[in-house]
Order: sequence, then structure tokens, then C-alpha cells
Amino acid sequence: MPADTIVLGAGIIGVSAAVHLARRGKSVVLVDRRGAGEETSFGNAGLIQREGVVPYAFPQQLSLILRYALNNNIDANYHLSALPALAPFLAQYWWNSNARRHRAIAKAYAPLIEHSITEHDDLVQAAGAEHLIAKRGWMEVFRTNAVRDAEYAEAERLARDNGIHFNTMTADEVARAEPDLSNGFVGGLKWSDPWSVLDPHALTIAYLKLFESLGGRFVKGDATHLTPRVASKGWQIDTTEGRIEAEDVVVALGPWSDKITGKLGYRYPLGVKRGYHMHYGTGHGAKLNNWLMDKERGYFLAPMNNGIRLTTGAEFAFRDAPKSPVQLERAEKVARTIFPLGERLDAEPWMGSRPCTPDMMPIIGKAPRHDGLWFAFGHAHHGLTLGPITGRILAEQMTGMPTVIDALPYRPERFNA
Ligand SMILES: Cc1cc2nc3c(=O)[nH]c(=O)nc-3n(C[C@H](O)[C@H](O)[C@H](O)COP(=O)(O)OP(=O)(O)OC[C@H]3O[C@@H](n4cnc5c(N)ncnc54)[C@H](O)[C@@H]3O)c2cc1C
Repeated sequence: MPADTIVLGAGIIGVSAAVHLARRGKSVVLVDRRGAGEETSFGNAGLIQREGVVPYAFPQQLSLILRYALNNNIDANYHLSALPALAPFLAQYWWNSNARRHRAIAKAYAPLIEHSITEHDDLVQAAGAEHLIAKRGWMEVFRTNAVRDAEYAEAERLARDNGIHFNTMTADEVARAEPDLSNGFVGGLKWSDPWSVLDPHALTIAYLKLFESLGGRFVKGDATHLTPRVASKGWQIDTTEGRIEAEDVVVALGPWSDKITGKLGYRYPLGVKRGYHMHYGTGHGAKLNNWLMDKERGYFLAPMNNGIRLTTGAEFAFRDAPKSPVQLERAEKVARTIFPLGERLDAEPWMGSRPCTPDMMPIIGKAPRHDGLWFAFGHAHHGLTLGPITGRILAEQMTGMPTVIDALPYRPERFNA
């Protein structure tokens, strides 16, 4: 089966790239070993984080590092046995999180985030997926005045520099917004620009249907079967629907991208931050109105279509190590003290792996040493947020058009891999 482009990976990144390529007249075959959006893009907190202009840094203060070293936190956890192998990634991540470098990275990262809502809006409307989107922003709630005040100061700085919007909330305003939340919070902060997704899997499927309506094809296959074409330039892959041949291939395999890039000789210093979720019913007819973060404990409650989804922070471990949902256990215990969560609705905790680079920015663009090979992975905490803008940039690059923003900061060459 001939095509212009093979896109490997049907998460939010691969599907968004496939849509943008198909819109530009390319014949595209999207390949995944599973259904679309069934891995990392399935289980996130559903936030399109327009406020997320500063990527999550590795802690720099010794007191914080020592706190995390104890390994009894909700927001972060690690597998001791994995640390030696993860050390090169963690060391570079720590290095890039130094205040000066982190500021420069945030400046380079912000333009991507700035386009997150507008680019989703475009695809949401084209896909008829408005029913999956809530445009209510999201809330952080605070337990202490010190953290509240520090967060307000940081929010003011972000708003001034990046044109994002927020409201501070008194304890009474928090209580009015969330009558079923316990009243132990000293205040809150509402980011008003972000959108949230009521069912992240359904959104990826809606974008997949849009892709198919544009003539795109989705087939099952194992990306590790990709090989360069022998007789002519380009690529080929054997799928359940036969051999696909194309001039160009896009690697959008999220946390598994290194399986292909490594095979082709690229040694990116990638890592994963694993995360968990569980859905809950609500007790006593209670209702959660907002996507809500218990800031000082470090977990999210998201009122989604399938129940209240509790999501956890980062777990540093091997991608394929068995699940160890201790953060979920700890978070659930705390969450039950602030909101009347009902019974667990999933048979077991869901786990996914945020695909991370050590400079906290995704890798988007042409592979340095191969013609017709393109990369779009490493979106860490913001893959849902950045799917459509990533897809647009990549499609513009692949069709020789000027990109909507300067994509140089995200170029694959920056790692000399
Ligand atoms: C707990 C948690 C909460 C999060 N919350 C948010 C949030 O609120 N907002 C936000 O923006 N981001 C959030 N994220 C991050 C976001 O989910 C990810 O960045 C994003 O889903 C990555 O998308 P992707 O398409 O790169 O990867 P994936 O969705 O993992 O897609 C990769 C695809 O590659 C396929 N694949 C892998 N190997 C092969 C192979 N050999 N052959 C064929 N196919 C293969 C997989 O089946 C998969 O479909 C969160 C993540 C977690 C874990």
C-alpha cells in the first residue's frame, strides 16, 4: 500500500500530526499496535494547560531534595533499583532546572503553550467534539498562607509575562465554588484560560475520526518492523493490512519512541515520569464542580464523564517495571479527608508514562541523519495540551511551509544524540 507518510503511534501527538498532514493533502497511514489513544493519552488529568508556560523543574533546594529522598511523598516517588540507570537523565534534568537555565527554557517553551487552546479549538470544532470540552479553567486550593501567597506572587509574574489570567479566591469563595469540599483551605487560585477534557480517550478518538474523514487510514502494526526501503528512498512497514511504503515516517511513539530512534542510531537521553489514576463515585450526592489540585499534597481531582478521576504526580522508575501505585494509595487517603469520594470504579489503578526529555521540551522536527524521518515525542506533562500545535508545526515543516512559531528550540539536533 503506497502512502506519502507513515505516522507511528496513535496517541494524541501522532493523531494530531496525522490530521494536520491529511489536511495538507498528504496521504497518511497511522500505525499503532493498539487502538488510538489507549496508552498515555488515555489516562491523563485532561487539562489543556494554557497556564503551563513553565515546565516542571527538578527541585533545586536541598531541603526539597531531602524531602523527596525519603520517598514517602504523594507528588513524587522513585524505584531505588532504577536510579543508577536513570542517573544520566536525572543529572541532566537537574542541571537544566537551575534557575537561570530554567528561565531560558521556559521562555523557549511558552510559545508552544500559547497555541495550545487555539489549536485544540480548531480541531475540536472540525471534529465536532465540543461536548468533550469544559471551558471552566481549573483551581488550586491551599492549606497554608505561606504557600498561598507564594503561589499568588508566581501567578502574578506569569500573568504579566505571558498574558494568562487567574483569580485569587478567599476561603469563602472556595467554599462557594465547591460546597462539598472540606473547609480547611485558606484560599484558592483559579486559572481561567485552560480548558479541560471530560474524556481524554474520546477526544483522541474524535480527532482520529476527523483524520479518517480526511481520507487518512489507521492500521494495526508493530512500529519496530519499520525498515528503510531497499530499492528506493523512503520507509516500509509490515502491518496487519499488508506492507505500507512511504517517503516519510513520523515517530510519535510517546514513551516508546526510543525503541525506533535507538534502532536508527539516535541516543536521546530520555526518561519517563510514570503516573496513576483511579475513578471514584461520589458519596452522599456530593458534586465536584472544578478540576482541582490539592497543591500542598500534589494530586488532582478531575470531574470527568467516567467519575472523579484522581491522578498522581511523577514516579521515577523503569517504563516497563510493574505498577507500584503507592502514590495513589497515599493520595486517595488524603483526598477522602477533603471530599466525600465514593467507591473505586476501576478494577485496578491505571498507569501511564510521561515521555520526558532532560530539558523539559519536546523533540519536534526532522531527524538529523536520515531523510524522510521526523520526530514528535517527549511532551512530558503536557502532551494532551500540545498535541494539536505539535501536529501543526510538524506538518508545516514536512510540507516546506513556514512554521506558525519558531520551532528551533524543539529541534532534534539540540541533544547531539
Ligand atoms: C497521570 C498523568 C496525568 C497527566 N495529565 C496531563 C494533563 O492534564 N494535561 C496534559 O497536557 N498532559 C498530561 N499528561 C501527559 C500526557 O498524557 C502525555 O504527554 C501524552 O499523552 C503523550 O502522548 P503521546 O502521543 O506522545 O504518547 P502515547 O499516548 O503514549 O502514544 C504513543 C502510542 O505509541 C504506541 N506504540 C508504542 N509502541 C509501539 C509499537 N512498537 N508499535 C506500534 N505502536 C506503538 C502506543 O500504543 C501509543 O498509542 C499526563 C500524564 C499522566 C501519566
